[in-house]
Amino acid sequence: MQIANTPSRDEPVAALTSRITCPHCGFTHAEVMPTDACQYFYECRNCHVRLTPKPGDCCVFCSYGDVPCPPKTDGSCAC
Ligand SMILES: [Zn+2]
Repeated sequence: MQIANTPSRDEPVAALTSRITCPHCGFTHAEVMPTDACQYFYECRNCHVRLTPKPGDCCVFCSYGDVPCPPKTDGSCAC
């Protein structure tokens, strides 16, 4: 079990991860998602292709991850 030793803040920050599947090589890797922004670019750790969101999606986690990005789920997504 891994415990993140981060300074406490006003809001509890959960370490949200999403498993991204590369559409080019099929490689999957769990990545930590930023909780306050959408990540538009993602470079595959295996084939190093730069992924961008599919049309209609706001970030690479929505397009290729198994968990949608936090801004989308809590309604604060501005993109
Ligand atoms: Zn790849």
